[in-house]
Amino acid sequence: LADRRRYIAAIREAMLRPEHLDKMSVDAVMQTGMGDVADKYLKNKVAAELTPGVEDLETSAWSGDDGLTTVEYSAFGVIGAITPTTNPTETITCNTIGMLAAGNAVVFSPHPRARDLSVWQVQTINRALREAGAPENLVVTVAEPSIENTNKMMEHRKVQMLVATGGPGIVRTVLKSGKKAIGAGAGNPPVVVDETADIDHAAKCIVDGASFDNNLPCTAEKEIIAVDAIADLLKFHMVQHGAYELSAEQVKQLEGLILGERGAATEWIGKSATAILEGIGVEPPAGVRLLVCEATKEHPFVQVELMMPVLGLVRAPDVDAAIDLAVELEHGNRHTAVMHSQNVSKLTKMGKLIQTTIFVKNGPSFTGIGIGGEGFTTFTIAGPTGEGLTRPRSFARSRRCVLVGDLNVR
Ligand code: NAD
Repeated sequence: LADRRRYIAAIREAMLRPEHLDKMSVDAVMQTGMGDVADKYLKNKVAAELTPGVEDLETSAWSGDDGLTTVEYSAFGVIGAITPTTNPTETITCNTIGMLAAGNAVVFSPHPRARDLSVWQVQTINRALREAGAPENLVVTVAEPSIENTNKMMEHRKVQMLVATGGPGIVRTVLKSGKKAIGAGAGNPPVVVDETADIDHAAKCIVDGASFDNNLPCTAEKEIIAVDAIADLLKFHMVQHGAYELSAEQVKQLEGLILGERGAATEWIGKSATAILEGIGVEPPAGVRLLVCEATKEHPFVQVELMMPVLGLVRAPDVDAAIDLAVELEHGNRHTAVMHSQNVSKLTKMGKLIQTTIFVKNGPSFTGIGIGGEGFTTFTIAGPTGEGLTRPRSFARSRRCVLVGDLNVR
């Protein structure tokens, strides 16, 4: 455990070097064509600082007349981890810390679009581990990531656990593997605003959360459900905080631009609000971070996980209808939801009904992963398989050790 603590400290130190944070943020945007450099810097920093380490592996113990029994978290073995384009380096940092803290080794299958950066990061982590005296190759990847190579990795007899952070396809694939699998899949987080909320604060939180890293995070607000009585006021304040309200004609133009055959058009995922506005020939006003439009609940800007700073706003007659709609629009992903309200009963009602892994109240969505909210961070949020915000113990086996008759000294 002392060795592991040293290795984790070395990884944190290497990932937190300012020149490395710069490289990971700049190169991720360049190589994947998605996201925002300053936000990625913050995400990378948080991943290195706030992912729990060895201290997460708490032992349970029972002592009594029959002796002493402990349950300890023990290494699983070699883990195959599949990482997304949207958080390429954050996920490698977070998974490496959590998986090594639990005593495992990791084979990473990064997204091909993040290949060069992922290979650099794995090499940099290995260099830090070597300097800290760790065994060679605790963390590895392939020079040429591809679906074929990921499949080979998943089938390898020495890979004992699979952890997929990505869309529904890869989560389904690991679940069918026959191996222990953790699936961290897609979301479509709704944000509900009711008439009791601090509307100015709610507006700022939504613009901050939904524009963070150009809406790439799986946790970011993806559609707004506003109680009719405060919807206009909410839009007014959102515009003051950097939102731009699209006209009906601009919405039509955007549909042609950012929607592909199967959901969002890849080339527009993670692009900035200003780039998207320019894409439809609109000169962006200064300070615009988010595009918003009124929509019906059937509209793709409400239904589809766009991963762009473009949000549909749906009106609901009252808070109960708004909560019901949020549950519907979350599509059963059990991922993330947000609500702005001062009514504790309604906050509680939404939490109970929506059953998401993360439920943020009166804050921007990123507080749910520890950025401005209490608690540890993770970049692998396992809704489908139930581990929730993964941490070292999620990557461990639980083992019981029983000593009969002795070591109870009472
Ligand atoms: P993606 O599903 O396209 O790719 C994710 C990873 O899986 C990549 O490494 C990709 O190469 C691999 N992959 C995809 N299909 C595969 C297949 N058939 N066989 C083998 N490998 C395959 O997702 P993305 O665009 O990189 O990331 C965005 C998605 O990930 C969004 O849906 C987002 O919500 C989700 N996401 C979820 C979490 C979470 O913690 N729950 C975190 C980040 C991203």
